Amino acid sequence: MVDVQTRETLDTEALRRSSLEHQWMHFRDWLRMAEEGDPTIIVSGKGLEVVDSNGDTWMDVNGGYLCVNVGYGRTDIADAAMEQMRKLAYFPQATTTEVTARFCQKLAEITPGDLDRVWPVTGGSEANETAVKIAKAYHHRRGDGGRYKIISRKGSYHGGLGLTMWLGGHGGRHDFEPAYPGMIYAPQANAYRPEMGGTTIDEIAENAVKAVEDLIILHGPETIAAFIGEPIVGDTASDAVTVPGPTYWPRMREVCDKYGIVLIIDEVINGFGRTGKMFASEHWDFVPDIMTMGKGLISSYLPLAATIVSTRIADAFAGEKNVFPQALTYGGHPVAAAAALKNIAIIEDEGLVENSRKTGAYMKEQLEGVKADHPIVGDVRGIGLLLAIELVKNRETKELYPDEMKLEESLAEKFHEQHLIIRPRGHGLISLSPPLCVTREEVDRIVAGIDIVLGQTEKELGVTG
Ligand code: PLP
Repeated sequence: MVDVQTRETLDTEALRRSSLEHQWMHFRDWLRMAEEGDPTIIVSGKGLEVVDSNGDTWMDVNGGYLCVNVGYGRTDIADAAMEQMRKLAYFPQATTTEVTARFCQKLAEITPGDLDRVWPVTGGSEANETAVKIAKAYHHRRGDGGRYKIISRKGSYHGGLGLTMWLGGHGGRHDFEPAYPGMIYAPQANAYRPEMGGTTIDEIAENAVKAVEDLIILHGPETIAAFIGEPIVGDTASDAVTVPGPTYWPRMREVCDKYGIVLIIDEVINGFGRTGKMFASEHWDFVPDIMTMGKGLISSYLPLAATIVSTRIADAFAGEKNVFPQALTYGGHPVAAAAALKNIAIIEDEGLVENSRKTGAYMKEQLEGVKADHPIVGDVRGIGLLLAIELVKNRETKELYPDEMKLEESLAEKFHEQHLIIRPRGHGLISLSPPLCVTREEVDRIVAGIDIVLGQTEKELGVTG
């Protein structure tokens, strides 16, 4: 046991050793962290910036896991949570509290169409698991219980637990075979690397929709419960931040309606202003049957997420014998509800959706300038403050640098030297999602850092313009 409490000031080294001994961290191995002098211990934050225990300042260009939408250090959110905790810290869900009721009403007001009934949970995985369960139970309640399969898209991420880890396609699942039954994987509408081909954005979208329809017919519509997708894929390597063409989601809506399939839209990353609209679904002007949300809903000040369901689906659960059989101890937690209401008020009152749209457009323009200067940049894409750069070996063929080169590791080290927190993914996918309060001046600093890192990388790789 390492004694970290004996000194008045924070003993960074003792704390670091304690963490290496006892903490199991995402994506990191404690042996290598020990060799590298990690982990960094973050002690405070304000806006985009966080400060570590050595007093060094870092600019968080990933906004946590694309989730700190209002930025760090909002004491008004802390105050709202504290006030509620003092008044009433918890009461279970078969009753309600003032803030939980107001929280559900607020979500119903700001989401599109008839998304009106909220099932509050504590994280995005729970929200998606709940959505899939509701979709399946909905079909059962209507005497259509043969529908149990779920269509998701290769390359997407919808969660890390039991059912949700089998949605989409991402690494790290082989330890947990056999897979959850009834999973069907469809292609994305990736405009940069269209799996189903196509030359225009509309053609790429239509081919991707057609591929989903073909899968529905192949498996039998009467066996399919739901389709789940993010409006814009948030954060997995190959398909990250590809924005589907204008026809994609309206056509997916049509296809789901045609075959009686519940359309679940995952706004866990996309929601709450990330893409320059309150919800990314609004870019396509369609209404899903179920929408899931998390992250920006509370800017990660506390664990909270939600599944919001259209009246049509929710009404199948009305009446005493129809109750949806699920209970999660912390769903609708009043302290989190109070913090989320404050967070949403900040997003609305401080024009953060508008800032995401405008400053995101400015940032994208600056990144296009970076692309013009750096041949290693194959693609700049995204919308609002959900942006990405994809690096390629050859712009014409879009050939990637091989995995063995571990480009993402050398990029991460270089960003570290620039005091930028940016986690490159896969073969060189740099995803950029700063808090929505980012200013143009901060964008200029971020882009200048990226410019330096790409210059250094090109020099190492012998790439010339
Ligand atoms: N859905 C999407 C699109 C996500 O990106 C994530 C997490 O990154 C989740 C769901 C799962 O959310 P959580 O990590 O809060 O369980």
